[in-house]
Amino acid sequence: MSSKKRPFDSADSADTAGRDAIIARARREQAERERTYRERALKLFPWVCGVCGREFGGKTLRELTVHHKDHNHDNNPPDGSNWELLCIYCHENEHAKQQAADAYGAATPREEPDAPATYQPFADLADLLKRDTKTKE
Ligand SMILES: [Zn+2]
Ligand SMILES: [Zn+2]
Repeated sequence: MSSKKRPFDSADSADTAGRDAIIARARREQAERERTYRERALKLFPWVCGVCGREFGGKTLRELTVHHKDHNHDNNPPDGSNWELLCIYCHENEHAKQQAADAYGAATPREEPDAPATYQPFADLADLLKRDTKTKE
């Protein structure tokens, strides 16, 4: 039984360059794809934010972005059923909401009137101060 370990081949510069090129191309393709579905979405829908109702056009049109309703950027049905045009502010909001939902999980009931504040912003600080006075002794 031989357990000969092959020394880890360190990536030479050519290999790294190749990988960088692949990443760069993937990024370009992604950007390309995004531009394409944005253009398609802009043809399908009126240039209005789906949340705040603000209208866009001309210079402000770049503030109108395509949101994926299921948050899957690879899901781009040609009929636009997964897209929603949102202004950059509402779009950010939408994702912040989603992140909060992800963080709290499904265990939290949806309609909780004023959840008790379990977050104690100064809990760490008190701890820190305690530790600080200790080290100063
Ligand atoms: Zn908006
Ligand atoms: Zn989005």
